[in-house]
Amino acid sequence: MDYINQILDCHKYFKQSVEFNTMQEAEYSELIREWRGVYKSELRDRKQLRKKVCNTEWDPESYFNVRRPSFVKISPDDHKYVRTFRMVSYGMLHYSPSLRTLILRNAGYDLAHRLVEKKEIKDVDDLPVVFLNQKIGLLDIVNESFNKMEINLYECISCYNAPPIGRTLCDFEAGIIQGALETLIGANVTKEIYCFGLGNSFCGFEVAFE
Ligand SMILES: [Zn+2]
Repeated sequence: MDYINQILDCHKYFKQSVEFNTMQEAEYSELIREWRGVYKSELRDRKQLRKKVCNTEWDPESYFNVRRPSFVKISPDDHKYVRTFRMVSYGMLHYSPSLRTLILRNAGYDLAHRLVEKKEIKDVDDLPVVFLNQKIGLLDIVNESFNKMEINLYECISCYNAPPIGRTLCDFEAGIIQGALETLIGANVTKEIYCFGLGNSFCGFEVAFE
Protein backbone atom coordinates (compact mmCIF):
# COMPACT_ATOMS: atom_id res chain seq x y z
CA MET A 1 0.00 0.00 0.00
CA ASP A 2 1.18 3.44 -0.86
CA TYR A 3 0.82 4.95 2.56
CA ILE A 4 2.98 2.28 4.13
CA ASN A 5 5.63 2.59 1.43
CA GLN A 6 5.84 6.27 2.19
CA ILE A 7 6.10 5.52 5.88
CA LEU A 8 9.02 3.22 5.14
CA ASP A 9 10.84 6.06 3.43
CA CYS A 10 10.18 8.41 6.26
CA HIS A 11 12.62 7.91 9.09
CA LYS A 12 11.07 10.57 11.22
CA TYR A 13 7.54 9.39 10.74
CA PHE A 14 6.63 9.67 14.37
CA LYS A 15 7.90 13.20 14.89
CA GLN A 16 5.73 16.24 14.49
CA SER A 17 8.25 18.02 12.26
CA VAL A 18 7.86 15.55 9.42
CA GLU A 19 5.79 15.79 6.36
CA PHE A 20 3.13 13.18 6.30
CA ASN A 21 -0.51 13.58 5.76
CA THR A 22 -2.97 12.80 8.47
CA MET A 23 -4.37 9.92 6.45
CA GLN A 24 -1.04 8.08 6.56
CA GLU A 25 -0.71 8.64 10.27
CA ALA A 26 -4.28 7.57 10.82
CA GLU A 27 -3.87 4.37 8.81
CA TYR A 28 -0.70 3.36 10.60
CA SER A 29 -2.23 4.17 13.97
CA GLU A 30 -5.17 2.01 13.01
CA LEU A 31 -2.90 -1.04 12.66
CA ILE A 32 -1.53 -0.47 16.13
CA ARG A 33 -4.99 0.26 17.51
CA GLU A 34 -6.33 -3.03 16.17
CA TRP A 35 -3.42 -5.01 17.59
CA ARG A 36 -3.75 -3.25 20.94
CA GLY A 37 -7.32 -4.46 21.02
CA VAL A 38 -6.09 -8.04 20.60
CA TYR A 39 -3.47 -7.54 23.33
CA LYS A 40 -5.86 -5.93 25.79
CA SER A 41 -8.66 -8.43 25.30
CA GLU A 42 -6.26 -11.33 25.63
CA LEU A 43 -5.00 -10.07 28.99
CA ARG A 44 -8.36 -8.81 30.25
CA ASP A 45 -10.36 -11.91 29.42
CA ARG A 46 -7.51 -14.20 30.46
CA LYS A 47 -8.19 -15.90 27.17
CA GLN A 48 -7.32 -19.55 27.11
CA LEU A 49 -3.84 -19.66 25.63
CA ARG A 50 -3.01 -22.19 22.96
CA LYS A 51 -2.09 -25.54 24.46
CA LYS A 52 1.60 -26.22 24.75
CA VAL A 53 3.05 -28.56 22.16
CA CYS A 54 6.29 -30.42 22.56
CA ASN A 55 9.20 -30.03 20.19
CA THR A 56 8.56 -33.29 18.41
CA GLU A 57 5.07 -32.07 17.45
CA TRP A 58 6.51 -28.89 15.97
CA ASP A 59 6.22 -28.91 12.20
CA PRO A 60 8.98 -26.57 11.00
CA GLU A 61 7.35 -26.06 7.58
CA SER A 62 4.29 -24.42 9.11
CA TYR A 63 6.63 -22.24 11.18
CA PHE A 64 8.65 -21.24 8.10
CA ASN A 65 5.63 -20.46 5.92
CA VAL A 66 3.76 -17.62 7.51
CA ARG A 67 2.04 -14.57 6.08
CA ARG A 68 2.06 -11.48 8.25
CA PRO A 69 -1.03 -9.45 7.31
CA SER A 70 0.44 -5.93 7.63
CA PHE A 71 3.84 -6.78 6.18
CA VAL A 72 2.43 -8.60 3.16
CA LYS A 73 0.77 -5.28 2.29
CA ILE A 74 4.14 -3.51 2.58
CA SER A 75 5.97 -6.13 0.55
CA PRO A 76 4.30 -9.06 -1.26
CA ASP A 77 7.59 -10.99 -0.83
CA ASP A 78 7.47 -10.68 2.95
CA HIS A 79 6.91 -14.43 3.48
CA LYS A 80 10.23 -15.15 1.69
CA TYR A 81 12.26 -12.98 4.08
CA VAL A 82 10.44 -14.46 7.06
CA ARG A 83 11.04 -18.00 5.78
CA THR A 84 14.80 -17.49 5.39
CA PHE A 85 15.14 -15.82 8.78
CA ARG A 86 13.14 -18.57 10.48
CA MET A 87 15.05 -21.39 8.81
CA VAL A 88 18.24 -20.07 10.39
CA SER A 89 16.57 -19.33 13.72
CA TYR A 90 14.93 -22.77 13.88
CA GLY A 91 18.20 -24.48 12.97
CA MET A 92 19.93 -22.72 15.85
CA LEU A 93 17.14 -23.66 18.25
CA HIS A 94 17.32 -27.27 17.16
CA TYR A 95 21.10 -27.34 17.62
CA SER A 96 21.29 -25.54 20.96
CA PRO A 97 18.52 -23.41 22.54
CA SER A 98 20.92 -21.77 24.98
CA LEU A 99 23.46 -20.91 22.29
CA ARG A 100 20.68 -19.55 20.09
CA THR A 101 19.51 -17.26 22.89
CA LEU A 102 23.04 -16.05 23.53
CA ILE A 103 23.86 -15.40 19.88
CA LEU A 104 20.58 -13.76 18.87
CA ARG A 105 20.47 -11.58 22.01
CA ASN A 106 23.95 -10.32 21.33
CA ALA A 107 23.31 -9.90 17.59
CA GLY A 108 20.32 -7.68 18.38
CA TYR A 109 22.19 -5.81 21.10
CA ASP A 110 25.18 -5.07 18.83
CA LEU A 111 22.92 -4.07 15.95
CA ALA A 112 21.11 -1.57 18.19
CA HIS A 113 24.40 0.00 19.26
CA ARG A 114 25.43 0.38 15.60
CA LEU A 115 22.05 1.91 14.69
CA VAL A 116 22.43 4.43 17.50
CA GLU A 117 26.01 5.22 16.39
CA LYS A 118 24.80 5.72 12.81
CA LYS A 119 22.05 7.96 14.20
CA GLU A 120 19.31 5.80 12.69
CA ILE A 121 18.02 5.60 16.24
CA LYS A 122 18.24 9.00 17.90
CA ASP A 123 15.48 8.63 20.44
CA VAL A 124 12.86 6.20 21.63
CA ASP A 125 10.38 7.36 18.98
CA ASP A 126 12.69 6.01 16.26
CA LEU A 127 12.33 2.44 17.53
CA PRO A 128 8.94 1.71 15.88
CA VAL A 129 10.24 3.14 12.59
CA VAL A 130 13.36 0.96 12.61
CA PHE A 131 11.35 -2.15 13.49
CA LEU A 132 8.96 -1.37 10.63
CA ASN A 133 11.73 -0.56 8.12
CA GLN A 134 13.62 -3.74 8.92
CA LYS A 135 10.38 -5.73 8.85
CA ILE A 136 10.98 -7.04 12.36
CA GLY A 137 7.47 -6.25 13.59
CA LEU A 138 5.07 -3.50 14.62
CA LEU A 139 6.49 -2.03 17.80
CA ASP A 140 4.16 -0.43 20.32
CA ILE A 141 5.28 1.28 23.53
CA VAL A 142 2.32 0.55 25.78
CA ASN A 143 3.62 1.90 29.08
CA GLU A 144 6.40 4.18 30.26
CA SER A 145 7.31 5.17 33.77
CA PHE A 146 10.39 6.41 35.58
CA ASN A 147 12.16 3.07 35.74
CA LYS A 148 10.09 0.73 33.62
CA MET A 149 8.78 0.37 30.08
CA GLU A 150 6.39 -2.13 28.53
CA ILE A 151 6.82 -2.69 24.83
CA ASN A 152 4.70 -4.91 22.59
CA LEU A 153 5.59 -6.30 19.21
CA TYR A 154 2.93 -7.43 16.74
CA GLU A 155 3.45 -9.68 13.70
CA CYS A 156 6.97 -10.40 14.94
CA ILE A 157 9.37 -11.97 12.42
CA SER A 158 10.54 -14.53 15.01
CA CYS A 159 7.29 -15.73 16.51
CA TYR A 160 4.13 -14.56 14.73
CA ASN A 161 1.87 -17.64 14.46
CA ALA A 162 4.55 -19.92 15.93
CA PRO A 163 3.27 -22.92 17.90
CA PRO A 164 3.23 -22.62 21.71
CA ILE A 165 6.35 -24.60 22.53
CA GLY A 166 6.55 -23.35 26.12
CA ARG A 167 9.31 -20.79 25.64
CA THR A 168 9.84 -17.32 24.24
CA LEU A 169 11.44 -17.04 20.81
CA CYS A 170 12.28 -13.39 20.34
CA ASP A 171 15.81 -13.02 21.68
CA PHE A 172 16.98 -10.99 18.67
CA GLU A 173 14.18 -8.48 19.18
CA ALA A 174 14.79 -8.33 22.96
CA GLY A 175 18.48 -7.64 22.26
CA ILE A 176 17.67 -4.72 19.97
CA ILE A 177 15.31 -3.19 22.53
CA GLN A 178 17.79 -3.65 25.36
CA GLY A 179 20.75 -2.29 23.37
CA ALA A 180 18.90 0.74 22.02
CA LEU A 181 17.41 1.71 25.37
CA GLU A 182 20.72 1.18 27.13
CA THR A 183 22.38 3.71 24.85
CA LEU A 184 19.48 6.15 24.84
CA ILE A 185 18.39 5.92 28.48
CA GLY A 186 20.56 3.62 30.58
CA ALA A 187 21.40 0.09 31.69
CA ASN A 188 18.36 -2.16 31.78
CA VAL A 189 17.12 -5.71 31.92
CA THR A 190 14.78 -6.53 29.02
CA LYS A 191 12.67 -9.63 29.38
CA GLU A 192 10.09 -11.10 27.01
CA ILE A 193 7.01 -12.10 28.99
CA TYR A 194 4.41 -12.67 26.25
CA CYS A 195 5.12 -14.51 23.03
CA PHE A 196 3.49 -16.81 20.48
CA GLY A 197 5.93 -19.39 21.83
CA LEU A 198 4.09 -19.11 25.17
CA GLY A 199 0.64 -19.23 23.54
CA ASN A 200 0.01 -15.48 23.29
CA SER A 201 -0.97 -13.60 20.12
CA PHE A 202 1.71 -10.92 20.44
CA CYS A 203 5.12 -10.35 22.04
CA GLY A 204 5.43 -8.28 25.22
CA PHE A 205 8.73 -7.08 26.67
CA GLU A 206 9.30 -5.62 30.13
CA VAL A 207 12.22 -3.24 30.41
CA ALA A 208 13.45 -2.54 33.95
CA PHE A 209 16.05 0.23 34.25
CA GLU A 210 18.74 -0.25 36.85
ZN1 LIG B 1 7.77 -13.32 20.68
